[in-house]
Amino acid sequence: MFIAFEGGEGSGKTTQSRLLAIWLRDQGFDVVQTREPGSTKVGMRLRAILLDAVHQGLSARSEALLYAADRAEHVEKVIRPALYRGSMVISDRYVDSSLAYQGAGRALEPGDVARINAWATGGLVPDLTVLIDTPPSVGLTRLGGAADRIESEPLEFHERVRREFRSLAAAAPERYLVVDGTLAQEQISLLIHDRVREVLPD
Ligand code: C5P
Ligand code: MG
Repeated sequence: MFIAFEGGEGSGKTTQSRLLAIWLRDQGFDVVQTREPGSTKVGMRLRAILLDAVHQGLSARSEALLYAADRAEHVEKVIRPALYRGSMVISDRYVDSSLAYQGAGRALEPGDVARINAWATGGLVPDLTVLIDTPPSVGLTRLGGAADRIESEPLEFHERVRREFRSLAAAAPERYLVVDGTLAQEQISLLIHDRVREVLPD
């Protein structure tokens, strides 16, 4: 079973994916908790390039290809082997992040971004994607001064990202859980547990 967490800056994906991993392990599941970008040897170097302020001028197409390369490594070296062993995989970000940030955010042709990612992942789609939907003004405030390269983008960029995440979820509701990221952490966890329970193998 493959579960992805998606959402904008400061939405709480990292916290909630960690809490879900603990909850599933408590029930005896073997869980691989991972993230993008940067969960492989090459991916760590790609992450450094992608998040380094020095590379602010990186072209949108190069950025999309580097994220796709990171994802290809991630799928082949981490995600597929874990799924093959029967583990649960929880990833903090996946393809939707590219559709939202590189597609909607950077205004690349959405079909192109979808195609390079379908190719990069060999078509691997999560069983469930948890979208933690948070207004950018709230998420960015939570992060305070701890801004990565992209967090210096204008609010409008993050609004486009949020709209794209929401429309991806709306187009395939059976594969998504959308939770209000302004709720209390414990409440968000409970909503996630309710939905994950429905998709767990017995
Ligand atoms: O998930 P995390 O906050 O660590 O992501 C690191 C940064 O990479 C974020 O600022 C996010 O906006 C950016 N990112 C991106 N495109 C992706 C994935 C992440 O611009 N496809
Ligand atoms: Mg995070």
